[in-house]
Amino acid sequence: MPPSPDDGAAHAVYLDANATEPLRPSAATAMLEAAALAGNPSSVHAQGRKARALLEDARAVIARRLDADPLNCVFTSGGTEANVLALHGFAPGRRILVGRTEHDAVRRGAPEGAALEWLEVDASGQVRLDLLEETLARPHALPALVCLMLANNETGVLHPMAEVARLCARYGAHLHGDAVQAVGRIDVALHAGGFGSLACSGHKLGGPKGAGALLLAGPAPRALAPLFVGGGQEQGRRGGTQALPAIAGMARALEEALDTPADHAPLRDRLEQAARDAGAVVCGGAAPRLANTSCLALPGLRAQGQLMRLDLEGFCVSAGSACSSGKVASSHVLEAMGLEELAGQAIRVSLPWNVRPGDVERFAAAYTRLAAGRAQGASAVAVAGGLV
Ligand code: PLP
Repeated sequence: MPPSPDDGAAHAVYLDANATEPLRPSAATAMLEAAALAGNPSSVHAQGRKARALLEDARAVIARRLDADPLNCVFTSGGTEANVLALHGFAPGRRILVGRTEHDAVRRGAPEGAALEWLEVDASGQVRLDLLEETLARPHALPALVCLMLANNETGVLHPMAEVARLCARYGAHLHGDAVQAVGRIDVALHAGGFGSLACSGHKLGGPKGAGALLLAGPAPRALAPLFVGGGQEQGRRGGTQALPAIAGMARALEEALDTPADHAPLRDRLEQAARDAGAVVCGGAAPRLANTSCLALPGLRAQGQLMRLDLEGFCVSAGSACSSGKVASSHVLEAMGLEELAGQAIRVSLPWNVRPGDVERFAAAYTRLAAGRAQGASAVAVAGGLV
């Protein structure tokens, strides 16, 4: 019997799915089953073959559900490694174009010394197709590697990937998609979507932390320089014994996420209405977005303060841009959208697969109180002649 997923504290309302989704019980069960196998998938004896069979089952599921060939599904430790592997593997001999609002896994994932060209976004957070085409059309000795995320982790904004893929095909560019926040939430298809490669991550689906995959286009095994050679696993593309329990959990989580999609839109709309009524700005609110993600800015109130106050009331949410030290940095995503003045005042609310309507109601009430407190504080300061 797997332990039930921990929600951190008995009273906590978890609305931070884009940081990590709660573990799905079915994924926990798959992990325990895989962990019970003694063999190493690379061993030739019976126990090894059993582990190998489970690994290949997981690979087949992930590849089939994301329109890839199992021969070109490379397991990694997560989304960061999948993105970095793609950037290192495809960068040689190419110029690298990266969206301004990409995750740091991509923004900082290129090989040392590689010169990046930035792709600007519009005020809604979508990549500027006119500038992308201009950049691709500019005569250059090298073909392009274009790196864009399907869905933004801070705002949920979706890039117009079909148009991006058409442009990449027209100009002979390799399109690498960071699908970490998209898989399980919107349709993601490697070949049909026109991608050369796609990165995904198990823990953003309700699987465990510690597994991800890089999908490469093509039916024949595609060579890719590894980040570490090791024992030559994954057809020489990623050395190291595969994390079988985590991979099995990721595959099960993917199946569940796709077979029983959550209907987040009504809850998100309810939450955003309450936030707007309280004076918040929904960043990226006009663009096509993930249905589970709201980026809410309260002018005049720092994100760190909002997070602390909400945490005290038992709500787990994030600032748009929290670095690994836990400190809240100003959001490069909002800055790229021209929302510099809101960039330090926005929090991200992201609904998990198992959110309950009552969670959203309680959050809406707490947020309204937070905003009302700000208004009182602001008028007191204004009376005193100070600045908020
Ligand atoms: N790409 C995006 C868009 C993400 O949101 C994240 C994690 O937040 C990553 C990549 C990195 O994924 P992982 O945590 O699995 O390394």
